[in-house]
Amino acid sequence: MQFRVIANDSATAARTGEIVTSRGTVRTPVFMPVGTRGSIRALAGRDVEELNFDMILSNTYHLYLRPGVEVLKKAGGLHSFMNYHRPILTDSGGFQVFSLSDLCRVKPDGVEFRSHIDGSLHFFSPESVLDVQRAIGSDIMMVLDQCTEYPIDKAEARKAVDRTVEWAKASHRYWSDNFDPDRQALFAIVQGSVFTDLRQECAERLLELPFPGYAVGGLSVGEPKDLYREITGFTLSHLPADRPRYMMGVGSPMEILFAIRHGIDMFDSVMPTRIARNGTIFTSAGRLSIKSAACESDLSPLDEACDCYVCRTYSRAYLRHLFRVGEISALIYNTYHNLYFMNSFMNDIRQSIERGAFDSAYRKWEALYGNGDI
Ligand SMILES: [Zn+2]
Repeated sequence: MQFRVIANDSATAARTGEIVTSRGTVRTPVFMPVGTRGSIRALAGRDVEELNFDMILSNTYHLYLRPGVEVLKKAGGLHSFMNYHRPILTDSGGFQVFSLSDLCRVKPDGVEFRSHIDGSLHFFSPESVLDVQRAIGSDIMMVLDQCTEYPIDKAEARKAVDRTVEWAKASHRYWSDNFDPDRQALFAIVQGSVFTDLRQECAERLLELPFPGYAVGGLSVGEPKDLYREITGFTLSHLPADRPRYMMGVGSPMEILFAIRHGIDMFDSVMPTRIARNGTIFTSAGRLSIKSAACESDLSPLDEACDCYVCRTYSRAYLRHLFRVGEISALIYNTYHNLYFMNSFMNDIRQSIERGAFDSAYRKWEALYGNGDI
């Protein structure tokens, strides 16, 4: 994997760039839709192909439990299994172990947990999650880290930072000795909750190892928006400019914009697809609820400015009808449009940075998406 910066905004830390992987080039800033279990929920593979994302994300924890490593190996990895041949990034499973599993016991060499599906006992170590990601065939892999909840006291946050750094060192060693770094890159994850000194220390200790990229983890987990923004800006100021910076689990247009302004290159989130399934639509004029009475007899498309096939083909009134009667197609169409929107939105931001017009793009989108939680 290689990364190069193409354009820097003169007034902020926003930039565009390219991550070149053996499966294709990823233009940054990039939004990655989430294929949790090897599929983007509600979409057929043909739709995903057509949406033309540069990179998607899948979850190690879920794929490890089902279908399991042996099936993935037999299929030749996730790309072949789901017949998707562009770059795939996988998380390490750490976030799901800490947030989903019924039991989770942190030990010096890894974390023991019970499957949220059948209660069976499993163990993830820094090395074993890389072996799973090798079986998946991820183009970018993530290290195992210790995620923390919000709020958390500082002593606990410090322990998680120490563990995260130790595990990152073990991961880097194992990766350097056993992987082809050109085919499977490995990113480290900065933890430290909402404590600036811990964030700085974690970043500095991780930077002692030459990881090809760095992620910001442990944010967007329930902390107030102002605090999220303060910690985001602070953490980013400690990450190197010559490597990709990835904000994990953030996908609302406004928070994406904010993080781009501070130099983030990569995002993933289930949010645009989850809200689509609940009837909330992103448009170039702001959010739209397909459930609203105003859509009942509105024969205009979801978004006049969108040229996705849903907007070219169906009216708000029809899509509202499908949603109200519980047709599966409502989820498909809403999801398709929201992901198409995310691609257009990221294109708009990238172009604005390259034209030297990021500030006006920021203000335009802030006026449309600046209030509300999403
Ligand atoms: Zn559309």
